[in-house]
Amino acid sequence: MPQYIGRFAPSPTGLLHFGSLVTALASYLDARHHHGQWLLRIDDIDQVRVVKDSAQQILNTLKIFGFKHDGDIRWQNKQIDDYEAELNRLAAKDLLYPCVCSRQDILSISPSGIYLGTCQDWGIDLTTPHSIRLKVNGEIRFNDQIQGVYQQSLPSRVGDFIIKRKDGVIAYQFATVVDDFKQNITHIIRGADLLESTPRQIYLQQLLGYPKIKYGHIRIVVNKHGQKLSKQNKDYPVDLANPLKTLKKALVFLNQPLPSNVNTVQQLLEKASINWNIKAVKAT
Ligand code: GLU
Repeated sequence: MPQYIGRFAPSPTGLLHFGSLVTALASYLDARHHHGQWLLRIDDIDQVRVVKDSAQQILNTLKIFGFKHDGDIRWQNKQIDDYEAELNRLAAKDLLYPCVCSRQDILSISPSGIYLGTCQDWGIDLTTPHSIRLKVNGEIRFNDQIQGVYQQSLPSRVGDFIIKRKDGVIAYQFATVVDDFKQNITHIIRGADLLESTPRQIYLQQLLGYPKIKYGHIRIVVNKHGQKLSKQNKDYPVDLANPLKTLKKALVFLNQPLPSNVNTVQQLLEKASINWNIKAVKAT
């Protein structure tokens, strides 16, 4: 098994924006710097949010920017059997329970929105629509390669969380953990908007007996109003007319040196992966 398997996992909810390009670049350079593999996954589990043709557009954009992935692309929507099998393993350990609460129900008893386990002891009629929640316990602590030590108490900061939604869709937290395991991912470099999700994912990995993953969370790119760029808001789709210039901009954002004498995106990626220094990436 290779020592390093990284990945980029875009959601096909619109065109790739500069923020996703930065994440793609950082995960790619970290993988190549370590002579590792770089896999692609399309996070299309939530079909309601999927924007038609955007997966193909994202793949084309990555190609134009010179990113070459290893292995087959994993499409979440085709992995339902894997998720159900792993969900059954958690159920067999008595770690799951059905919940009928709406967001409003939760807010009415918990203004912070943290779920207080309301449905845990009820005999819920399983013919009514319900989500499936995971019982949580304890504190998760990990050392992020960019953000340093991050610690979170699951019961007080998150609560029993949903792993399958009322509409039957597998929740992101659970799908990503199963996918990362199935793709033998060893390292994840992604946006810091997911930092607070990572303890939930580590907790799931522990419950399912999966190996540990090394994480690095990159500060997020914001628009002029200080908000995270979003594919849905059509925020700054990357400029395909001059990919070399855009990649250089992304390297500057990542606080990496700009390679000299490069004329193609391939040359830039090759040199930048040799020079890559994750320690230079700013935390905030
Ligand atoms: N699909 C997620 C996104 O586009 C990323 C998931 C992950 O890296 O775990 O924000």
